Amino acid sequence: MNQPYIPTQTPMLHIDKAAQLGDIITRWKNQGLRVGFVPTMGALHEGHLSLIELAKSKSDRVVVSIFVNPTQFAPHEDFDSYPRDTGKDLTKLQQAGVNMAYTPNESEIYPNGKDTDIRAGHAAEGLETTFRPHFFDGVVNVVARLFNQVQPDIAIFGEKDFQQLQVIREMVKAQAMPIEIIGAPIARDAHGLALSSRNAYLSAEELQTARRLNKILREGADNPAQALLDAGFDKVDYVEERWGRRLSAAWIGKTRLIDNVEI
Ligand code: AMP
Repeated sequence: MNQPYIPTQTPMLHIDKAAQLGDIITRWKNQGLRVGFVPTMGALHEGHLSLIELAKSKSDRVVVSIFVNPTQFAPHEDFDSYPRDTGKDLTKLQQAGVNMAYTPNESEIYPNGKDTDIRAGHAAEGLETTFRPHFFDGVVNVVARLFNQVQPDIAIFGEKDFQQLQVIREMVKAQAMPIEIIGAPIARDAHGLALSSRNAYLSAEELQTARRLNKILREGADNPAQALLDAGFDKVDYVEERWGRRLSAAWIGKTRLIDNVEI
């Protein structure tokens, strides 16, 4: 007798329209299911997958968005060259057991054009904002719109972008959004380098330099910026202590890396 076919994984839904997404979310909510959300810009790596695992452990349905948000890039930044491979990303999401991939195009997120009417709060002051003045306004505008569409019970953000995590927490509080924000630990390679989509820009030699960043931040030298320059970084935007962390952004060639460690 033939064995009945029992699928081990339900197929992942792939949605690119907000209206369709809304229908499914409503159905899930009516069933009393808890929705977990992981926003990303794609080029998925183990860091993203660790956020997804955390979301799965804390919710009944996991939604992952892939959207390279134009409003958080300045004109001279890497929006056009940012790594994009949606086909590969969707396979990874399916294998990770994600319930829905949401890949909106620009008009789903910015139907009235790319206005950024929401402002990032105090957590955005200094650090990244000194060097990327419009970055967090772009971030809060895309995240607020995604939150409105997905209406998650929880949303996961990586501690890799530690200031961003604080900015999102502040936004959710300021906007009285009924969403629990959960920070996920930084996923690193065997050398301690924080995983990042932008690591793909690094040559083999640059990668060796990049792997010094986490070590120097941990060592806590008197002048960590100089230690980074001595290690081969070309420019250090900042090394600062805030929120019980030592945070830094530094350049190797055309690649800007960020990282932070607990003090
Ligand atoms: P991105 O696609 O770079 O916008 O990142 C999407 C989410 O993944 C953000 O919440 C990031 O903080 C998080 N993330 C990226 N890299 C890492 C990492 N190495 N460890 C933990 N979270 C990460």
